[in-house]
Amino acid sequence: MNRKEARERVSELRELLDQANKAYYQDAQPFISDKEFDETLKELIKLEQEFDLHDPNSPTRRVGGTVSSVFETVQHPVPLLSLDNTYNEEELNDFDGRVKKILGHENYEYMAELKFDGASIRLRYENGKLVLGATRGDGEKGDDITNNIKTIRDIPLHLNGDYPEVVEIRGEAYMEREAFARMNQHREEEGLTVFANPRNSTAGSLKMQDPKAVAQRPIRFFAFDLLLDDEDNSLTQFRKAELLAEFGLPVCEYHRVCSSIDEVHELIKKWEKLRHELPYETDGVVIKINQSHLREELGTTSKFPRWAIAYKFEAEQATTVINDITLQVGRLGTITPVAELEPVELAGTTVKRASLHNEDEIQRKDIRIGDTVVVEKAGEIIPQVINVVNPDREHRNEAFSFPENCPACDSALIKYEDEVAWRCVNPTCPPQVRIRIEHFASRDAMDIEGLGESVVDQLVSEGLIQTYADLYDLEKEQIIGLERMADKSAQNLIDAIQKSKQQPFERVIYALGIRFVGKTVAKDLAKAFGTMEKLQSLSEEELIAVDSIGPRIAESVVSFFNNEKNKAIVKRLGEHGLQFEKEEEEQASNIFEGKKFVLTGSLPTYTRKEAADLIEKHGGKTSSSVSGNTDYVLAGESAGSKLDKAQELGVPILDEAKFREMIGE
Ligand code: ZN
Repeated sequence: MNRKEARERVSELRELLDQANKAYYQDAQPFISDKEFDETLKELIKLEQEFDLHDPNSPTRRVGGTVSSVFETVQHPVPLLSLDNTYNEEELNDFDGRVKKILGHENYEYMAELKFDGASIRLRYENGKLVLGATRGDGEKGDDITNNIKTIRDIPLHLNGDYPEVVEIRGEAYMEREAFARMNQHREEEGLTVFANPRNSTAGSLKMQDPKAVAQRPIRFFAFDLLLDDEDNSLTQFRKAELLAEFGLPVCEYHRVCSSIDEVHELIKKWEKLRHELPYETDGVVIKINQSHLREELGTTSKFPRWAIAYKFEAEQATTVINDITLQVGRLGTITPVAELEPVELAGTTVKRASLHNEDEIQRKDIRIGDTVVVEKAGEIIPQVINVVNPDREHRNEAFSFPENCPACDSALIKYEDEVAWRCVNPTCPPQVRIRIEHFASRDAMDIEGLGESVVDQLVSEGLIQTYADLYDLEKEQIIGLERMADKSAQNLIDAIQKSKQQPFERVIYALGIRFVGKTVAKDLAKAFGTMEKLQSLSEEELIAVDSIGPRIAESVVSFFNNEKNKAIVKRLGEHGLQFEKEEEEQASNIFEGKKFVLTGSLPTYTRKEAADLIEKHGGKTSSSVSGNTDYVLAGESAGSKLDKAQELGVPILDEAKFREMIGE
């Protein structure tokens, strides 16, 4: 292929993928399978790299990201203004001076509240019912993210108390420090990029496509303002906060009315110290005139209201030296580089280590051993390295080269495509052994009763087992004497282990703990390939041919079975008599014996998978495209080109009712 041809092919692929994305996300009517999509995307990535045809708008840049065009834009009836802000006391006094001058008197109060470092959102309730949730956007217009907002448990779907017909609420979505750190840790273990701070991750989470995914994120909410139609001018900010709470919205308890700017200063000083004890990030204090009628008098400038200001705390940073960079092996095999620091005081604690997250992060910030760096606690319990001080200095150490072997077991590290983390995939790597065995024994896998975390822990530390295959060699005498393990409980455990040999093939596949192979994929693999022997011999291409298997899963399965240690473990499981073959499924009938079906459109009650399973149960087969060999097309609503093709070829077309009748339901 020459460059001109490549360019043409690239634009063709981009168009196809854009259409496919639109069909998938916006119209919910995919016209190509996930597998085709993945393959097309792969081809495009390859051509873009090979011929250096990069484009920021290419669909390859959107992988894993968000397609924000799916959200509808909403106009805010009253703009969400941002506030003027300051970092110093003098400017705060200047602000107070201006207020005094315009009003011409001192009969005003301030309401001071904590400022949260999250994402501003707007809620609308009509007749007490949540009808809209929107992002702040540019202040004038935002995105309608109602479905995502509804997944945030702090936000009531119905108001309490005595609410007016229309209620507009402003507030801040945020994440608590600990939940954020836990989420990042999981992401690190999963080999995904980590979020820089709770603010980024909150804003990003709110704009995800799939509300189910949003629901998994630990998003919290505080309401801080209330707007009512024909609002009573006597309503103070303090009273508004009370009303919000009466309506059932979460309101941060730390708001105070201050009668002078000096009181405000005192409050700021207090929070500058105490803020680290809060479970969430606050980056300052918002100061607003408490009385509504005075706000009207003060008005707004072209950018900000004159009746409010945000005082921002200085970020807590410290400068120190990196003595060493070490590697930590996670329970899932992820390798995390850690900066070993010269101990330094930061936000009330002594900091000795900072996570460097992954190799990309080290390279991007060009962090080297011996560097002086700025560390910050930005919502992280473990602080992070922000940047290197004076990176151009002479006599700097060589750039950090990431080790090629696991620090715990010395096996070669690998990195999967699309991931940032290096991993150790050795099944006997000590830090990972326990979690692999726990997974193997878990309820959805081999379901070995009595083999919980603490028993696994003892078995491993006593050197009785190294891998899950060793479980089947255990004898009662070996485990009697472990903590809380008397004769009877030891016998029960041995029995449970032996009994697990009856678990079906698909559970065995799941129990192996192959990356990306969850319960559903395990089931599909069992069904598609039938035996362990076959499964072990597959190429990526053969795996991808199964509908639900994408390139990532295929790569992972192949690399699992190529690993010598895994091979040996699987062999031993087979020798112990675990189920390595799929049981024959009961055939419901053979009315569709030898018949080929094509499914199209959405059926009123069956999902496509259910329909396909039924066809198979009755002896038939399904295929994805209509041809002369097709016996029936089972068509639902909004069936597309396949239906046209069937009509053209004169293939009999069934609807769900007719299909049900044929299978006798
Ligand atoms: Zn290892």
